[in-house]
Amino acid sequence: MKLKWGATTDVGMVRQQNEDAYFAEENLYIVADGMGGHNAGEVASALAVATVRAGAKSGIHSTEQFRELVQQANTAIYTASLDDSTQSGMGTTLTAMAVVPGEEPKVLVANVGDSRTYLFRGGALTRLSIDHSYVQELVNEGILTPEEARVHPRRNIVTRAMGIERSVMVDVFTHLVRTGDRIVLCSDGLVDEVPDTDIAMVLSQHSDAQETAEALVLVANANGGRDNTTVVVVDILDDISEPVDLPEAETTKEIPVVTEAPPATTKKKKSVVGVVLFWSVLTAIVLSSVTILGVYARSGYFIGFDSSENVAVYRGRPGGFLWFQPTVDTQTELAGDELPEDILRDVALNRTFTSSSQAQKYLSLIQIAIVDAATTTTTSTTVAK
Ligand code: MG
Repeated sequence: MKLKWGATTDVGMVRQQNEDAYFAEENLYIVADGMGGHNAGEVASALAVATVRAGAKSGIHSTEQFRELVQQANTAIYTASLDDSTQSGMGTTLTAMAVVPGEEPKVLVANVGDSRTYLFRGGALTRLSIDHSYVQELVNEGILTPEEARVHPRRNIVTRAMGIERSVMVDVFTHLVRTGDRIVLCSDGLVDEVPDTDIAMVLSQHSDAQETAEALVLVANANGGRDNTTVVVVDILDDISEPVDLPEAETTKEIPVVTEAPPATTKKKKSVVGVVLFWSVLTAIVLSSVTILGVYARSGYFIGFDSSENVAVYRGRPGGFLWFQPTVDTQTELAGDELPEDILRDVALNRTFTSSSQAQKYLSLIQIAIVDAATTTTTSTTVAK
């Protein structure tokens, strides 16, 4: 197996310190984006990288082992933050890729937070990790599109981070890889400044891994460089496996050949039975239309203010539909004047949801946004970077 990699990190155009950390060597690649005052972000990201690196010396062979190792790094950061009050509440994201050689070479991708691992294959860029962020939750719920999420004012809120709590949920994904694949690990400094389409363009314009990593950082800085940017590019060069043959796309469908002529329709004589049938069918149509309208009128949910200007979830259509008026599904104590501006707009414009659970999820995300707006200190569930 032959891999070639390049890696670089940059403080960016605005920040004074670089709190990102990375590691790149043979079968292990890591990017961590630290957060916390008094240089604590740097400590957290460095500690995450060092712990995972030390534990992976004899290779990573299973998802369980990888998950356990990332848990160890979480514990190391959490313990360090308890031991030193200047590092209290420090945390970091982590995205890490371990290469597992073999007959079917694969990569294991571990992720906590909103740093990303991408796969670039055949000119297409896909994400191998899923962000743990406020905006990704909104994308999952169908409330935001990925492009809206990329420029959302609350895109910096992560819903999972290393070192904040005694233990953390770690995602580990397994992907088969093949010759020609490029894998990119990066901090959010890249993805906040550069859309996926432009990342793909840079990846296709440069072949050398180090040159490519540097070119991506240049683009992030040219677009504003408002955060630290770290990029690791890993190229799978040698024929480490036979390329996987994708099943051929189905291009033609057999159309059944009609060999017999359909039976000719015959005109029936008008009869009383026919008239009765006509009226009963008509009645059924009217009744089912009313039922359908009722189902439609009651099928949606939306968010709005009640008469006391508190946030409430309503079932039905904003403003009502025909004679169906919306009813209160969930009443909250959230007052309009507590809400950040973007949430206030959503509530005032009656953002709609397809299900009650989707609306409930949005309510819990409002709480996160209020906490974030009120304070930049860490809480048990959210960290503003
Ligand atoms: Mg960052």
